[in-house]
This record gives sequence, structure tokens and C-alpha cells, in this order.
Amino acid sequence: MSMTFQKECHDHEALGQMRRRLNDLETSEARYRTLFNNVPAAVFQVDASGVESLFLTLKRDGLEDIDRYLVENPHLIELANRSVIVREVNDVAFTLFGAVEVSQLLAPVAYIFAGTPEASARVMSAHFQGRPNHQQRLKIKRFDGRLVDAWLMVSFPQLTSNFDTSVLMITDMTEQVRVETELRKMETEFAHFSKLSVLGEFSSAIVHEIRQPLSVVANDAATASRWLSRSAPNLPKVRELIQRIGESTSHATEVIKRVQDMASKAMPERQICDLNQLVASAIAFTKKEAARRSIGITSKLSAALPKVQADPVQVQQLVVNLMNNAMQAIERSERGPRQIFVSTTVGDCRVCLEVSDTGPGIPEDIADDIFESFFTTRKDGMGMGLSICRTIMQSHAGAISARNVAGGGAAFEVWLPIISAFEEVECPNAIEALSKTCVGIKGG
Ligand code: ADP
Repeated sequence: MSMTFQKECHDHEALGQMRRRLNDLETSEARYRTLFNNVPAAVFQVDASGVESLFLTLKRDGLEDIDRYLVENPHLIELANRSVIVREVNDVAFTLFGAVEVSQLLAPVAYIFAGTPEASARVMSAHFQGRPNHQQRLKIKRFDGRLVDAWLMVSFPQLTSNFDTSVLMITDMTEQVRVETELRKMETEFAHFSKLSVLGEFSSAIVHEIRQPLSVVANDAATASRWLSRSAPNLPKVRELIQRIGESTSHATEVIKRVQDMASKAMPERQICDLNQLVASAIAFTKKEAARRSIGITSKLSAALPKVQADPVQVQQLVVNLMNNAMQAIERSERGPRQIFVSTTVGDCRVCLEVSDTGPGIPEDIADDIFESFFTTRKDGMGMGLSICRTIMQSHAGAISARNVAGGGAAFEVWLPIISAFEEVECPNAIEALSKTCVGIKGG
């Protein structure tokens, strides 16, 4: 084979290879163009070489905390906004920004960040830290001045790739944001609506709730007036009665305030509470009425009870309700001890309160109904007390249940998650754990 022929063959092969490469490049470019033009998002091809050289200098100088540096040197953000240039855009970008001519878009990136200036710093920070991409929500400012909710995605060139331009993609989020806002509005309305239905229960129950303090007030006022009209008025007794009138009035006022708060969409007043203290004040409130009915109250409160996050007035109301029910039940017992036992204990990620009595207990056939609104077996009952207790517990991620105790009488158990169940990692699945343990327990 002659040398000339060999060379000709070699040239021919090299030419073929070059043609194939060119072909591949053209196909790849065509694919990229199709993607660039047809992707349903605004696409911007951006030349960021201006900031890249700046980044290299800063890195050489040992800069690590870029976020802080940008806060201290805001002019760098402006510089980047001016020196990073959009080189190419697709049709969607035209429509999204409401551009009239392409020169408005093939310009420094400042216009992209005009609606959310802080986004520019975040993009710079991600680029400086060598992240492959960055995404965030932002508002874009169209050329007609209108702000549009959008989602920004930036893909940065990597050192290992030959592609040296950043690509920005922006999608219009107007519809999603509208749906989200609508949903949020519906949620608020729904929350208010469910509060109103609770309020409905409360309004009927307010009669039930304040009837007791009001009758105490009426009785005490009549007794005080009798003591005063005696020839030798018993002033210490009158003072004691007036003090009790004050306490009963405050309790009634608090119940009314709670109903008002609920009506005005106020959030429940959650506080870090000591359940023992709430129980103690409920006992103090009921003690005189219990003594009047010759009923004893025994309490055993755990000394190491973790705190709970609760609305103190609602929880007190719940304990008073259970104690009132216990008193009414004991009244129905003809003989035997007349006692109410109140205890608090610590369980797994929760605290437990139990109110039990020496009454006749809960008849088997009504056990499933006692927590329903308006269910009552009492002549003058309203059937609201236990349904309110259940509503209060549901709003506290807690639970309430009832059972009969050996030897007669009923026991009501109330569980509340302890604070760490929500805030610390030790009990991450407290609510789940609680709902599992509550399966099969009446009351819910
Ligand atoms: P009300 O007290 O107005 O009847 P509740 O919702 O508080 O309404 O109670 C519903 C029913 O549950 C009562 O009528 C009674 O039959 C039963 N109940 C409640 N507490 C006890 C208890 N401690 N012992 C026995 N039965 C009870």
C-alpha cells in the first residue's frame, strides 16, 4: 500500500469521525433547543462569569461565611445583579414577564430579582458554596409592574462539566397560591365553624355550668342577710359568706369569658400548667358543696407530675364537671360511704387524672352513650357535662374514658400529653402512642 493511499484513507476516516461528531453535536443541540423552547417554564440561560471570578478571589482570600459577607457588603449583590447577564430566553419567559421586546429580557439579571431582592443573595450564596442547584419561592415583578407568585430553580455549572452557563427556570405559581390561600381561608372558616358548634354546646352548657355558682351566690346572700338581721349579727360568718359569693362570681365570670373568647375566634389559652394545681383549685371550689352534701373528698396527687400544655380554665372546668357528676351519683346511692377520690399519676409520655366515686356506677346499657351531647339519666340533667369534657380533651390531644370500679362506683380517667411529648425528641410519637393506647376505650 502506497504512503499516499494510506494518508488518504486516514484523512477519510478522520473526516468521517469529525462529521459524526458534528452530527452528534447538532442532534444534542437540537434536543436542548426543543427542551429549552417547549418546557412549560420560563427558561433563562445566564452568563455568570462575572461573579465566578469574584467568587474565586473571595475563596482565595479564605472567605467561608458568604451569607454574612453579603449582609456586610450589599453592594456585591448589586454588582452581581448588574454583571450576571441573561443570554437566552424562551417564549414562556416572554409571556411570564410581559415583555414587549427581547432586549428587555436579554439584560442583567436584576429584573428577575426585582420582586424579591433577597432571592439574589440566596442564589449567590448557593453558587459560592458549590451547590449544584438552588430552589425557592419568589415574587417576580413583570414589566407592567404586576407582582406574580413564582417558583425559581437555578442550576449552576459544575467544575467537572464543560457547560459554563447557569440555567434559571421560573414557573408561575399564581394558581397554586390562589388554591392555597383559598384552602387556608376554608381551614380558618372551618376551625371557626367547629368552634361555633362547640360554642353551641357551651351555650347550652353555660346554664349547667353557672347554675351551681349562681345558686351558691343566692343561698349565701340569703344566709348572710339572715345573719345580719339578727339582734347580734355574726359578722365573721357574714364575711365568710361574702368571700364565697366573690369566689362563685369569679368562677361564673370565667366561664362566661371562655364562651366569649370562643365566639370571637380567640385561640384557646394554652399555657404550661401544673395539673396538680388545677386539680387542687377544682377541689377547693367543690369542697363546700361536697361538705354540704356530707361527701368526703380524698386526693392523692403525684409529687413528680410533669407539666402539661393546656387551657387552665377548660381543664378546671372539666375536673369540676367530673366532681359534680360524682356528687350527683353519690346522692343516688342510698347507703354506703360517700366519697370522691381524685388522683394524678404519670404514665408513658402522659399524665393521668382519675376521679372516682362511691356512687352506683354506670349501668352497662348506657356506658356507650354517656359522652354524647344531651344524653342524661337525671330528671334535671342536660346531658352536656361529659360531652364538653370530651370536646375539651379532644382539643388538647388528650382522652377521657369511663369504667366501673370493683366494689361499686364509677371512675373517669383523663389523659393529657406531657410537654416533652410535643417539644422534645424523647416522646416523638406521643400522640400516636396515646391514640393507640386509647383504642377501645369509651369516650375518645
Ligand atoms: P348530666 O349530668 O346533665 O346528666 P353528663 O353529660 O355530665 O350530663 O352525664 C351524662 C350521664 O352520664 C348522666 O346523666 C349519668 O347517667 C352518667 N354519669 C355521669 N357521671 C356519672 C358517675 N360519676 N356515676 C354514674 N353515672 C354517671
